[in-house]
Amino acid sequence: QPADVMEMLDEVADRFSFQMKQKHIRSGMFVEQGIGKVVIDRDQIEQVLDNLMSNALKYTPEGGSIRIEARRNSEGMLSISVQDTGIGIPKKDLDRIFERFYRVDKARSRNMGGTGLGLSIAREIVKAHGGQIFLESEYGQGTCTTFTLPMSGEGREAQ
Ligand code: ATP
Ligand code: MG
Repeated sequence: QPADVMEMLDEVADRFSFQMKQKHIRSGMFVEQGIGKVVIDRDQIEQVLDNLMSNALKYTPEGGSIRIEARRNSEGMLSISVQDTGIGIPKKDLDRIFERFYRVDKARSRNMGGTGLGLSIAREIVKAHGGQIFLESEYGQGTCTTFTLPMSGEGREAQ
């Protein structure tokens, strides 16, 4: 089922706009011209986007900003990233961040809510679509989580 990339991202941004305003977090979006449609399980990819957006929102203090970008990368894959200006992740934790239940610093996470499953679920969904997900972060500066998807849906696991 082809999904319109721009429309899907607009919807995601809409879903979070109230919470962002409440927290005084600015939003930005860049979608490459003519990006078109991608063959995906839309519910599942929206789940991925919601998980990334909820992390960005949760771990970005008031006054920060969150930006969504979508483009085709050099391999022709759709590449979507969610960037924030939040608290970031220490280098030593980066390797384990996609593991189930892994959370940086129990104390900092405890009062934030959540279970530590968001990123592991996101990774499973992206992998099942034949894509990849990775995260870059600078402690105290911000985080950028990017995932790629084949535009044509090739490499997708049978559902
Ligand atoms: P859940 O998603 O189940 O509600 P969670 O957000 O703690 O809980 P994940 O989404 O899997 O779990 O993220 C794992 C950990 O990675 C988080 O606990 C947090 O420490 C760190 N993390 C994830 N995204 C960010 C981000 N954008 N900025 C800072 N830290 C992050
Ligand atoms: Mg999460």
